[in-house]
Amino acid sequence: MTEKQATFLSELQSISSLRQISSLLGWDQQVNLPPGNSPSKQRASQRAVLATLIHREFTSVEFQDKLRELEQMEIDSNEDWGVILREVRRKLDRAIKIPSEFVARKAAHQSRAYHAWRKARQNDDFASYAPILEVTLQLAREEAAFAGYADNPYDYHLDLHDPGMETLSVAKLFDALQVELVPLSQRILGLAGTCKLPALKNFPVTQQEVFLREVVESLGFDFSRGRMDVAIHPFCSGNGNDTRLTTRYDADNPLDSLFSSIHEAGHGLYEQGLPAKWIGTPLGEAAGMAVHESQSRIWENQVGRSRQFWNLWEPRFRELFPEALSDISSEDLFKTINLVTPNPIRVDADEVTYNLHVILRFELEQALFSGELEVSELPDAWSEKAERLLNLQPKNDAEGVLQDVHWSSGSFGYFPSYCIGNLLAAQLWETAKEDIPELESLIEAGENERFLAWLDEKIHRHGSRMNLLELTEHATGKPLGHDPLLRYLEERYLVLYEQN
Ligand code: ZN
Repeated sequence: MTEKQATFLSELQSISSLRQISSLLGWDQQVNLPPGNSPSKQRASQRAVLATLIHREFTSVEFQDKLRELEQMEIDSNEDWGVILREVRRKLDRAIKIPSEFVARKAAHQSRAYHAWRKARQNDDFASYAPILEVTLQLAREEAAFAGYADNPYDYHLDLHDPGMETLSVAKLFDALQVELVPLSQRILGLAGTCKLPALKNFPVTQQEVFLREVVESLGFDFSRGRMDVAIHPFCSGNGNDTRLTTRYDADNPLDSLFSSIHEAGHGLYEQGLPAKWIGTPLGEAAGMAVHESQSRIWENQVGRSRQFWNLWEPRFRELFPEALSDISSEDLFKTINLVTPNPIRVDADEVTYNLHVILRFELEQALFSGELEVSELPDAWSEKAERLLNLQPKNDAEGVLQDVHWSSGSFGYFPSYCIGNLLAAQLWETAKEDIPELESLIEAGENERFLAWLDEKIHRHGSRMNLLELTEHATGKPLGHDPLLRYLEERYLVLYEQN
């Protein structure tokens, strides 16, 4: 490494350290902040100071000059340094193009919008929130225009979450998926509807903690380089040697804590698998939201809801919760774990219908950005799409268009990542089973090392060297498609429920 590269690297890593500190403060806010301190102005101002500092350092003339000097050297774009320069340039261009006046205006509106959304959801009053959402949407368009996407603003927002993705490519995937998934989900719902399943109640929280830790550890999450705490909304933050998971407990909903923990552990395994020597650079960062989501979903669903996984874990589950499970048969337990049921709420949806919830939002976002749809028309458009995709009607707007926080914070183009993550998870799973024919027996034996090493080889170690579509081709030898997800859902759910 030349001296210039070393200086640049050290600056890049100090900016990244500032970002990590900010994220640590965010973690602390969710996990530790005393309740009297909430909502915390003190914490908000600490993070605002850091955000200003990060922006200043990252966009400083000195930093830009150093980057330009390195860019003039001849470096192969596929080599480590080529990737670092390419990715830093991409982010820097964006940061420079968006004026700080706009960033401040957007932040001020966001906090207003969040409160307005919460109130509107509480009162089931979309009309009071619509004018605010209009401003949010206008700001999102303005931001895209600053970044050079005046003619295709939604592409900008998709690309922010998953570099390389565009409206057209996502639409193509989702259109093909829904043609088959709508009838398949109705067929599965029809079969599942005839099952009578028991409610899971009275699972002592202390025992749940024991079980979760054992499960998460067995997946390969390294507790000597990570931790797990309690937060209202489970999330994973940190990276490398300091990866932090959170979970929540409910004595009458043990599967929620279990599967959200496995999900977050999947994110955590990705973060722990990023190459240590490049932490603080793009080579030590995840390749985007959808790739991240593929890692959480593959452990949560393909592994965690499988027959093999439960053959392994059911005895221990019963040992820890003998009373709660005494009247519940193995088959009923397994069906409860894989319950498919109509639900208007996305976050409570099963993995079969979940993707249709995402497609609904994608279509609405796309129509809002193209100008086909007005904000005031959202509730009706929502109902129409819910009917067509999910065969249900929300009782009210709180259960429909007001259910998610995302739009209130100006997060457009975020929802698609959830479904794309599911597509990728299924495609990776199919390839992994070809590469490791005994994969399912290994899972049944609790030997997850080889699968984790496979994910590491295919995904984790590459950081953001490749984008989602490149990484998919690299890992599976095929372009990202919708068939593996359909095959996986058919195999798991038709087989399970057709036995009735
Ligand atoms: Zn996730």
